[in-house]
Amino acid sequence: MAVLVLGGAGYIGSHMVKRLVEQGEDVAVVDNLVTGHRQAVSKKARFYKGDVRDRAFLDDVFQKESIDTVIHFAAFSIVPESMKDPLKYFDNNTGGVITLLEAMHANHVNRIVFSSTAATYGNPENAVIKETDVQNPINPYGESKLMMEKIMHWADVAYGIKFVALRYFNVAGAAEDGTIGEDHHPETHLIPIVLQVALGKRSELQIFGDDYQTPDGSNVRDYVHVMDLADAHILAMKYLQAGHESAAFNLGSSTGFSVKQIVAAAREATGERIPAKVAPRRPGDPDTLVAKSDKAREILHWQPKYDDVHEIIKTAWNWTQKHPNGFED
Ligand code: NAD
Ligand code: UDP
Repeated sequence: MAVLVLGGAGYIGSHMVKRLVEQGEDVAVVDNLVTGHRQAVSKKARFYKGDVRDRAFLDDVFQKESIDTVIHFAAFSIVPESMKDPLKYFDNNTGGVITLLEAMHANHVNRIVFSSTAATYGNPENAVIKETDVQNPINPYGESKLMMEKIMHWADVAYGIKFVALRYFNVAGAAEDGTIGEDHHPETHLIPIVLQVALGKRSELQIFGDDYQTPDGSNVRDYVHVMDLADAHILAMKYLQAGHESAAFNLGSSTGFSVKQIVAAAREATGERIPAKVAPRRPGDPDTLVAKSDKAREILHWQPKYDDVHEIIKTAWNWTQKHPNGFED
């Protein structure tokens, strides 16, 4: 039986595929390459180029492959873009999962692990967010993912498709060997942008707002290493394979870093000056997002290896230095 990774050419998906093949799993990948890179996908995985909204294409993949579990990353995930173009997000993220669940149901595949997000909580009610806290998104991206969680729930009730929703906080870093890493066009995420400044590919970092309700006024986020995240998906897959009920888990480090602290850590990790200046707020940004991720540690026995943001940044810096122009395709 194979694992089907949807969005396996993307940043997180390609690290997932790498970890799965390292562990001897048989892996098939679906990706339409809208933001992903063919070159990022392990040669040990079978690759199908196509769209998760294309039912005939998905049926074909399910018929060719013998799929035990689906791991689903295929989505759009840029908060400010979702504020400008919400329907693009509801179409690809929410619409995509409807077609996917229909195809899974028709092809008797009944386990799925998928990317949810801290953005489903909106401006959180507690400083450290628990899975049971209110989910009240403040941007269409978070809303599209919350809708996906709800759709999964009802597909479980009606068809018995079991799911694990993994609510990631801020994913960062790269594979330890520097062969794959984060390469988005345009890049919007803080750490890769900071490292592009360190490399001299950008002149300075813009710190989006310094008047938030946080100790230094810049936004606070919880950064988790991409390979730790990949490990959590494998544990979630095993949890479902053991016959457990559907569940949602936060994945974060439980420690918050402000934008200004990330810049300081990157200066230390790279030895570069990294010029930065304060710029206007970016629409849709909550002040602080920090995870309580005890549930994943207790139930999935998740033990993240990276607990120091400097080490996370160093792995991303290794990738950035080895691949200053990112992937070739
Ligand atoms: P990414 O853009 O690098 O990867 C997404 C991949 O899915 C790409 O390869 C893209 O080509 C593919 N894709 C998108 N729509 C598709 C479709 N309709 N059919 C087939 N393939 C499609 O993004 P990422 O940073 O790797 O994020 C992966 C997932 O994790 C997303 O669902 C995102 O919402 C979620 N997430 C990411 C973060 C983060 O910090 N990066 C945080 C929380 C949640
Ligand atoms: N950020 C910033 N400058 C940038 C990119 C991001 O100040 O050039 C801030 C952003 O406002 C947010 C934090 O860095 O507070 C993390 O943003 P990112 O886009 O990496 O992840 P998000 O929290 O949106 O998922």
